[in-house]
Amino acid sequence: MICNNIKIILERIEKAKNKAGLKKDIELVAVTKTVSIDKIKEAIDSGIKDIGENRIQEAEKKFKEFPETVKIKKHLIGHLQTNKVKKAVELFDLIQSVDSVYLLEEINRQAEKIKKIQECFIEIKISEEETKYGLPPAELESFMEKAVNLKNVKITGIMALAPYFENPEATRPYFKQAYKYFSLLVTHYPLLYLSMGMTDDFEIAIEEGSNMVRIGTGIFGE
Ligand SMILES: *Cc1c(COP(=O)(O)O)cnc(C)c1O
Repeated sequence: MICNNIKIILERIEKAKNKAGLKKDIELVAVTKTVSIDKIKEAIDSGIKDIGENRIQEAEKKFKEFPETVKIKKHLIGHLQTNKVKKAVELFDLIQSVDSVYLLEEINRQAEKIKKIQECFIEIKISEEETKYGLPPAELESFMEKAVNLKNVKITGIMALAPYFENPEATRPYFKQAYKYFSLLVTHYPLLYLSMGMTDDFEIAIEEGSNMVRIGTGIFGE
């Protein structure tokens, strides 16, 4: 079941890539929030190498269950509170949800303590919804100027979430915006990833320039 779902998602990623005339690789992050260990292991056995969790406590419990022998890249994709940064830095290879300089400075401080260079993405705010987290795009330049001086963090990409629409096509202008900001930053900074696209909208995100998709229900079901 999970194995087959992954196959279908990978085929759809290929198709979207071809439609957009893209040659680059698209990273697939399996979003494992609320998913049981057994199912996560099944996904890993089916070739998944990247997993995404959105809660520190849940992730901590689950990660203990993974055998040391399998090398899985662990992504934090949910909002991070300052008081949980220490744990996040211990647990995750990549923190995708950095949305303020203040948070980045705290990550840098905690990473320095354990002599780690913490990989991070900037989560940018591309929708007007008040509830959505994210750095306002107008602050991107000043964020990056500060980030380059922090020795224990490394910014390698941007993450964006489109608002939910009945019709996924409606997400396209938001992804276009995110790609525009990504393209601007890439001219000055060595960013590699634009993380956007979920189960309902990943094909559109890929067509608009995403090279990392985060898929939960498409792999594990509702
Ligand atoms: C849950 C979640 C996803 C995956 O959503 P699906 O619709 O289940 O694919 C992706 N990104 C973030 C930030 C999430 O919280």
